[in-house]
Amino acid sequence: MPMSPYPVLCACSAPAAFKVAARWSDGTTQELKTYALACAACLPSQYARAVAKRAACHLTLGEVLDAPGVYDLARGARDKQLARRADLEAELTSAT
Ligand SMILES: [Zn+2]
Repeated sequence: MPMSPYPVLCACSAPAAFKVAARWSDGTTQELKTYALACAACLPSQYARAVAKRAACHLTLGEVLDAPGVYDLARGARDKQLARRADLEAELTSAT
């Protein structure tokens, strides 16, 4: 598995531990739309921002955008291999 030569950083410049992303599809292609890379301390605020951005996003006919999710950020792993953290999402959702 290829390792990234530099660490992935959060907006606060600490190493990022999580990816906040939502599955997007137009019916033909599907991808993981990344909203933020966050460390544990910044995850609540970054997740809240992603939820707000998701709510403000206007979709065209046929487009589907899931609610933002939290994924463990594994360096070098492809999007499909990232583990989703439903436990953290439930925690973050109930905190707001
Ligand atoms: Zn941070």
